[in-house]
Amino acid sequence: MTPGDSGRTTRDSHDGDSLVLGLDVGGSSVKHLLASAFSSLDEPPTPLARGRDATPKAAPVEGLVSIAESVRGERTLERVVLSIPGLVDEADGVVVRSANIPALDGRPLGAELGAVLGVPVDVINDGHAAAVAEASWGAGAGADDVFVLALGTGIAGAHVVQGGVVPGAHGSAGELGHITIEPDGDPCSCGRRGCLETVIGAPALRRAWHALGGTGGPEGLLAAAADGVPVAEAIVERASSALAEALLTLCALVDPGCIVIGGGLAQEPHHLVTLAAGTVRERATFHRVPPIVPATLGGWAGANGAVLTALRRQRALV
Ligand SMILES: [Zn+2]
Repeated sequence: MTPGDSGRTTRDSHDGDSLVLGLDVGGSSVKHLLASAFSSLDEPPTPLARGRDATPKAAPVEGLVSIAESVRGERTLERVVLSIPGLVDEADGVVVRSANIPALDGRPLGAELGAVLGVPVDVINDGHAAAVAEASWGAGAGADDVFVLALGTGIAGAHVVQGGVVPGAHGSAGELGHITIEPDGDPCSCGRRGCLETVIGAPALRRAWHALGGTGGPEGLLAAAADGVPVAEAIVERASSALAEALLTLCALVDPGCIVIGGGLAQEPHHLVTLAAGTVRERATFHRVPPIVPATLGGWAGANGAVLTALRRQRALV
């Protein structure tokens, strides 16, 4: 466990500084990261407090206020940014539809928390938060044009240019999980067939693994493939081939300077990422294939992205 994952860090000599707070609101826990408002934008800040609490699902607004007030203590908070899973109206600070906290649906969370805490509170999508953090402070640091992909139950993507997510005209760019890989393939949650998610989403990998006698989740499948178990290797080969096709499409359309792959299926030893990156290089023709690298911020990417967004907004940069 990373230090600070549970409980709170000791307050230190920065007490009294102007502070920004990032809250990454997940389905089971809310991670908080407190940093000086004068932190550098070039590297992750030294956390003044970092920890997690259970997600207050029944009364989320009151619960989030309580967490923010507890972390703040007697110190001066300048801004709070919330990273929320689901569809978010970032301009108005409204949670349109939450992925797993129904009580937040339709709530003007930014205004409600801001009124109680007495500071500006912004609300951003959690995938965007993680993407800007990976692009600026994680595996994509140093590249101006980064595509960040998260592989898990679903597949999320975000194109980050000069530190900011390019949202598209309707805020729905980056849905790499729903490009077609197998036109007559399995039905997808989006209503179409054969999307990338139906081949390499965690549920698809679990089904394929169990059908061939495997047990446990896709992490076990990936570990078995890395160990050279033939049936596992065959499943992961198909998955990495599909991912490689999607990445070639991405290179053709977007020409990113770096591709960062994170999420539960991209954990160490990064077997799927390594295989897919090799296949992309083999199959590329005119494509300019950029570095394809595993994410480095892990489960704290969202909280870091919330803090980074707070620092930038505090300086009127975004
Ligand atoms: Zn789909």
